[in-house]
Amino acid sequence: MNPNDQRRLLSDVDDFCQEIREHEELCYVEHRFNHHLIPLAQKFNILGMLVPAEYGGRGADVVTYARALARIGREGTGVRTFFSGHSSIGQYPILTWGNEEQKRRYLPPSCKGDKVLAFGLTEPEAGSNPLEMQMTYERQGDRFILNGVKYLISNAGIANTIVTFAYPVEGPRLISAFIIDTDGAGFSCEDLVAKMGMPTANTGMFELSNYVAPAANLLGEEGQGFRIAMGTLVSGRLSVAAGCLGVIEDCLCEAVTYAKERQQHGKAIAKHQLVQEHIAAIEMHRLSSEALVSKAAEAKETSAQNPGDGVLASRAELLCAQAKLFTSQAAWDAADRAVQVFGGRGWSTLYRPGRHLQDVRVCRIYEGTDEILKLKIAAAVLGGKEFVAFK
Ligand SMILES: Cc1cc2nc3c(=O)[nH]c(=O)nc-3n(C[C@H](O)[C@H](O)[C@H](O)COP(=O)(O)OP(=O)(O)OC[C@H]3O[C@@H](n4cnc5c(N)ncnc54)[C@H](O)[C@@H]3O)c2cc1C
Repeated sequence: MNPNDQRRLLSDVDDFCQEIREHEELCYVEHRFNHHLIPLAQKFNILGMLVPAEYGGRGADVVTYARALARIGREGTGVRTFFSGHSSIGQYPILTWGNEEQKRRYLPPSCKGDKVLAFGLTEPEAGSNPLEMQMTYERQGDRFILNGVKYLISNAGIANTIVTFAYPVEGPRLISAFIIDTDGAGFSCEDLVAKMGMPTANTGMFELSNYVAPAANLLGEEGQGFRIAMGTLVSGRLSVAAGCLGVIEDCLCEAVTYAKERQQHGKAIAKHQLVQEHIAAIEMHRLSSEALVSKAAEAKETSAQNPGDGVLASRAELLCAQAKLFTSQAAWDAADRAVQVFGGRGWSTLYRPGRHLQDVRVCRIYEGTDEILKLKIAAAVLGGKEFVAFK
């Protein structure tokens, strides 16, 4: 991406963020989905940031895209999660493994916002281990019949198209990936509302009941689904890490401003040393997270430019896992400290730190839990297949 296009994209993202803020705050307090998000994202043309111009997108490189997601992350994990679901794990697998016809059919409308995308891997009985999934498909002539349930899926209730995964009823037990249109017969979806945070974002579960997908909607080769899912999660993890960096930046900004304004014991609380300890800790989280996100994004970009290079792909995968593990824990701690600086007001969701604290917790769960990422990192450091904790 040339520097002018890069500047323009980041400026559009910033304008979007400034306009979304008041709507997000109101919707949050009223605990309802933010219906302004997609129209505003359309207005600033930021629904296809990582999609090349030939398919209707902005053609951002990975580093620029990560910076955009960090900016969006400041507006809340719910807002950023929409973009992760739609782009990082929705458009990304179609862009990476889709054939030309699939790219032409799905990417341009998704960049315009005419189609919202989602990624459905998790099931009620298969989370950390997707190999335990129960969704099935059966080939019948030139179509596939799918049956099963996917659970905890970002954007599921607002999506027009979902990339999903299933085992064959017969034959080798290898997962395949499919592109599902949600207006097809046999698709039903339910919003999940009993959530700890992200009330303005959509999270749903969907069922496919004798759902018919044309053979043309098989994504990649039959049996390639697990690889597609794992490859997509690398992109997803980077998006979570970038979003968490944004959360930390916003917590720092809020804590600094409030600490300078709030007076107790005859002076600004920013002059009390124990409050300064919180500021210093959040700043260290910000700095370390920024470095890790940059490093991971650069590695992912290098890998994208050298397809087929397994060493570069493994390096990017590890760095994205490391960035996601670190930044999601750092963002949780930063939000907790910002809440503490705000005192009683911090505990209210009328203020930004309290909302960040509620929302960012999920970042230590989705796209690979803390535990799964630690096992992955340890296995990579130890080296050798005998140290892989699980298959
Ligand atoms: C708001 C939200 C949005 C989401 N969006 C999506 C989405 O868009 N698409 C999608 O496919 N999924 C999505 N998910 C699902 C998410 O990825 C899963 O919740 C996550 O992978 C964990 O799976 P699980 O909930 O089944 O927990 P489990 O796998 O049951 O894990 C429970 C606990 O056991 C631990 N554990 C499991 N196995 C091991 C092990 N081998 N060693 C050590 N500890 C272990 C876990 O770390 C965790 O602490 C979303 C989840 C949430 C909450």
